[in-house]
Amino acid sequence: MKITAVETLSLGEFPNVLWVQLHTDAGLVGLGETFYAVAPVAAHIHETCAPYLLGKDPLRIEAHNRHFLDTYLGFNSVGVEMRAASAIDIALWDLFGQASGQPIYQLLGGATRDKVRVYNTCAGYEYVRKKPVQGTANFGLPAKREPKRPYEDLVGFRTDAGALAESLLEMGIRGMKIWPFDEAAEASRGTDISPAELKKALRPFEQIRKAVGDRMDIHVEFHSMWQLPVAIRIAKALEPFDPYWYEDPLKMSNLDALADYARRTDVWVTASETLATRWGFRPLFEKQAASVCMLDVGWAGGLSEARKIAAMAEAYHLPVAPHDCTGPVLLTASVHLSMHCPNTLVQEMVRAFYYDWYGKLVTALPPVKNGQITAPKGPGLGTRLQPGLEKRKDAVRRVSGRGK
Ligand SMILES: [Mg+2]
Repeated sequence: MKITAVETLSLGEFPNVLWVQLHTDAGLVGLGETFYAVAPVAAHIHETCAPYLLGKDPLRIEAHNRHFLDTYLGFNSVGVEMRAASAIDIALWDLFGQASGQPIYQLLGGATRDKVRVYNTCAGYEYVRKKPVQGTANFGLPAKREPKRPYEDLVGFRTDAGALAESLLEMGIRGMKIWPFDEAAEASRGTDISPAELKKALRPFEQIRKAVGDRMDIHVEFHSMWQLPVAIRIAKALEPFDPYWYEDPLKMSNLDALADYARRTDVWVTASETLATRWGFRPLFEKQAASVCMLDVGWAGGLSEARKIAAMAEAYHLPVAPHDCTGPVLLTASVHLSMHCPNTLVQEMVRAFYYDWYGKLVTALPPVKNGQITAPKGPGLGTRLQPGLEKRKDAVRRVSGRGK
């Protein structure tokens, strides 16, 4: 089998989601995905990756992954080169699955569990929908006059987090992630939080504990927005609410600072979807800066690299928790990884995405039932892009090689 064409596809409606499809002379098409800065990633794929891939055997996955991760520049970050490499790697694993008739989790060595517990990231339908705009500018909050929708969970945690917790428990989901500190972080560039801002940000925690007691795990997301002293102050203020984890309190540019933070709180520190490759994660583990290894399959180097990062975490007796707040193919790839890894703690999902636009883009999603997720049936990823997406008016499609 040989790769005959490398295709990239994106839609104006979802300007941060990029799909890669690898076409072969066997008629199989492998699907991958990444997120953020779609145009430069696609440009890199066609300019640098496609000339290498065309004519190659797609089943030499490890060799191809190593080729792309050994890039002279961009080797140690979640930058354009790494996101391109990650999407391609997922597509190669999908091809392996289709060629062998096996789901990806089986090819990784088999499932260590039949299903994986999920927690809900409390975003709304339009969260991070716009082109890469960081912070609260991309919260995607609905206009006041818009009709209320059931899973507008960002509004939910900002207004009545107790009711939101109850609605998640009704679905069997017992973990929720919220980020009520971001506005205060933006206002002070992460240097300070006023008593009034702190009081406001603590309200959802009070509401959740009042409504459902300790039946809900509260994952706190800090989006790497804080400086160390105030991050510690916030960590201490939250401790009475017994949070499940503190995610990315600081930028991952100084892991000694994160290790310092971790030593000053009893709450688990989770980090970080903003790191890539084993070499990027190595100091995080060595410095004991995190209790939970969060990684993104579409940013960290693909499934080939993510499984090794997870194995490396296990050597430090740490669990792994794959990221999703991006797109349906990455969620699916993550679930295959989560089912395989013996040290999986929990899988992220966003119910506002899952039950709305994710399902419109692919033929199958990993089924979710009673707060547990499993891989879709079928070989490879077990999902494809919905036919005809490339014909949409807002589609941007580019093909290198002999595309159809
Ligand atoms: Mg995160």
